[in-house]
Amino acid sequence: MPIHRVDSTDTSSLLDIYATEASQNSLPKYRIPDGRTEPRAAYALIRDELLLDGNARQNLATFCTTWVEDEVKALMADAIDKNMIDKDEYPQTAEIEKRCVHILADLWHAERSRETIGCSTTGSSEAAMLGGLAFKWKWRKRREAEGKDASKPNIVTGPVQICWKKFARYFDVEIREVPLEGDALGLKPEDLRKYCDENTIGVVATLGVTFTGVYEPVAALAAELDAMQRDLGLDIPIHVDAASGGFIAPFIQKDIVWDFKLDRVRSINASGHKYGLAPLGVGWVIWATQDDLPEELIFYVDYLGGNMPTFALNFSRPGGEIIAQYYNFLRLGMEGYTAVQQACSDTAQWLGEQMAAMDCIEMVYDGHGGIPAVAYKLTDADHGFTLYDLSDRVRMGGWQIASYPLPMNRKDTVVQRILIRHGVSRDLAQLLLDDIKRAIAHLKENPVPNSTAKPGFHHD
Ligand SMILES: *Cc1c(COP(=O)(O)O)cnc(C)c1O
Repeated sequence: MPIHRVDSTDTSSLLDIYATEASQNSLPKYRIPDGRTEPRAAYALIRDELLLDGNARQNLATFCTTWVEDEVKALMADAIDKNMIDKDEYPQTAEIEKRCVHILADLWHAERSRETIGCSTTGSSEAAMLGGLAFKWKWRKRREAEGKDASKPNIVTGPVQICWKKFARYFDVEIREVPLEGDALGLKPEDLRKYCDENTIGVVATLGVTFTGVYEPVAALAAELDAMQRDLGLDIPIHVDAASGGFIAPFIQKDIVWDFKLDRVRSINASGHKYGLAPLGVGWVIWATQDDLPEELIFYVDYLGGNMPTFALNFSRPGGEIIAQYYNFLRLGMEGYTAVQQACSDTAQWLGEQMAAMDCIEMVYDGHGGIPAVAYKLTDADHGFTLYDLSDRVRMGGWQIASYPLPMNRKDTVVQRILIRHGVSRDLAQLLLDDIKRAIAHLKENPVPNSTAKPGFHHD
């Protein structure tokens, strides 16, 4: 008979969590449990499971925010019960969303004389789909007015993020993803005539291509579409997928012309939760003018009180991320965003230089001219290991670095990409570089004859 037997019915706060009954069993996986669990124990047990998730700050494969100020956490907690859709119940949250829309429209040089139109979303994916839908509706209306067939819409893109493939499939639009030829990393103006026609609802230009971090040349693409309108009579709008770049270029690359300054650009999306520095769960889409968002796509909802216009795929959505976005605008201002993005960019360029100096590495993107990131491949020789092995090896130090093939027609080129975000200091980057060097030295000495490291990376 053990003399220190714990009374399992004692749920008082004196009880050690790891001596509660809940801690003696594995957690439920398929059925809701019959009984209750003391909150401290439930919290601790779930939190312990989450230890296995790895450390988000060391995840250099993601573009998303992994560091926020304590004030952001406080505002998120304050806003936990605020539903974004309920603009009548939470008019000030709605007002804050509106302010963010105006701020972004201004940042991206939308015409001041027309009423600004845009909205928050769950992220860039939803924002991209709303932009794509507006294109599809506008195109269809025009075709029908001209008495022409409107049953075969297509959208022309470079190497796009998966959200555009979703848009195409979910909303029945053919996607014409221009393959990468030679050493191309993105869409080129000279591709457009071959892939666009009268059924093209729009061209997507990406400011910060997911695979490498480079910017597609929006102004040159716009100029080519202008020329095509003159030569062929095709009037094809551009949507800029500025998921990352929309929050970088306006601060540290002011000489790049990519936004509503170009008449061809009719809508832009960005992820608040990437370089917008807000916590996960917010994106933005802005149209050049009200005419660019067909009225038929807007729903007016009266069952929450009032009669509120909404354009969104979801209905209820948390308001905290939007409030946190506004906090960042207020907290950092132009000066602060510039300082944060410049620091990230400087660190990425420094890392690019260091990586370029390594004998087995060839840079694909060295951090100049695009988003704060680097992308590289192994040189052509047989090294006895692959980048997948290198990803696995640095994972031992907790670092997550993505390895994956470029899209068609460059699928034979496997690259690795490192994103430098807010919170990735020069010191952390140095520690990572040391680990990469150690990992490569180890792999050179211990070649991997039958590398089992498998691709399986999902871009976000
Ligand atoms: C991340 C990203 C997306 C998807 O954005 P989410 O906010 O994750 O939905 C779309 N396009 C590009 C270029 C991206 O980098």
